[in-house]
Amino acid sequence: MNKTIVLLDLEETLIESFDDALILEHNILKIAGHLYTVPGVGAFTDPESLLDNLRFGWMSWAIWDWSDKEQELVGDLVTFIDREHKWNLKERMSTLCDWSMTTWAEKLMQFDSLLVHRDEINQLFSKEDMLFKLRDMFNDFDRVILFDDTVEHNLTISAPDVTIVFQNIKEL
Ligand SMILES: [Mg+2]
Repeated sequence: MNKTIVLLDLEETLIESFDDALILEHNILKIAGHLYTVPGVGAFTDPESLLDNLRFGWMSWAIWDWSDKEQELVGDLVTFIDREHKWNLKERMSTLCDWSMTTWAEKLMQFDSLLVHRDEINQLFSKEDMLFKLRDMFNDFDRVILFDDTVEHNLTISAPDVTIVFQNIKEL
């Protein structure tokens, strides 16, 4: 059925940084262009279309604990994307991946029995490592796609129940 979850990095992928919240619209267009090519996702900007087949989530090492500033910035970003690009992000955002670093650390314990402090995650693991370790989390999906500025472009991990694909925004 091709149920897909798209994970989005924030800094240098969708925004310049948390200090300079410039929205990187050319990257939004790159992601949209790529999503149109993904089977089962193609008509994703149609709010009524394929809603259950596509979810979004955040995978940003810049969100520590959803402080007010971070919530406001991310809220503004979602509003912008939904208004200008019709991704229907607000409704498609999965609570599964609406996470801070604190939550990622909890999930590492839950799914991989790893006790890691949130401050150490980004020193110990790449995002490729993280999604591989957490692959069982995504059993409801057939496909996970991460858009990020640091991952290995087109790297694909085929686990028994899910395929994880990495897209480097700089190489799209
Ligand atoms: Mg980044």
